[in-house]
Amino acid sequence: MKSDEALRLARGARALGLVLADAQVARLLDYLDALERWNRVVNLTAVRERGKMLGAHLLDSLAVVPHLAAISRLSDLGSGAGLPGIPIALARPDVRVRLVEAREKKARFLRHVVRDLALTNVEVFAGRAEALRAEHGEDVVVARALGRLAEIVRLAAPILAPHGRVLAMKGHLPQDELRELPAGWRLAAVHRIEVPDLRAERHLLVLEQSRPVADENGA
Ligand code: SAH
Repeated sequence: MKSDEALRLARGARALGLVLADAQVARLLDYLDALERWNRVVNLTAVRERGKMLGAHLLDSLAVVPHLAAISRLSDLGSGAGLPGIPIALARPDVRVRLVEAREKKARFLRHVVRDLALTNVEVFAGRAEALRAEHGEDVVVARALGRLAEIVRLAAPILAPHGRVLAMKGHLPQDELRELPAGWRLAAVHRIEVPDLRAERHLLVLEQSRPVADENGA
């Protein structure tokens, strides 16, 4: 049973361009175990069927990883049950991942997983993203199913480093939401993503703050 799943997960990840160690695959499945167990009692995610969770949650989240490049700090805003933050943290132990979640019952699950899986590179912030302070500045802010793009960049702007990027995970390419982007933001890239085991249209949007002209001249 488990080994079939491990194979599916490793194959799916490889199709996304990710080579995972056996130990990483095992820990991703441990996370799925915890998610499945808690979901029976606490409403964490609408997708409850284990077979579907592998594609819809694990692989969908892992699809972001090849687009992260050399970064050291990432925040997942409105992380819910830890998606995409926890799979990212398991795939990239070198990145400090902060999971930001407003609802206490979900934050409680996140703290449980961090302890249980000994995720030393993950921090949980139980509260609203609006309450976050800048500190060092995030290299990447990622969000899945949090809200419209304008809302995501509004929440991301105060905590991003000057070079920081927003990675927004979306289904269809949201042209209407792109038109609503506030001034100073631009769409840097769009990746159409084929998630193995998930028959759904997926897009990853990369958003950046446009720099003042003086910066580009090195002034
Ligand atoms: N990213 C997860 C959860 C999506 S649901 C996934 O893709 O499965 C959106 C989550 O964002 C909810 O858990 C909600 O509690 C949280 N949320 C909404 N607004 C928020 C805010 N301003 N700050 C922090 N969390 C927020």
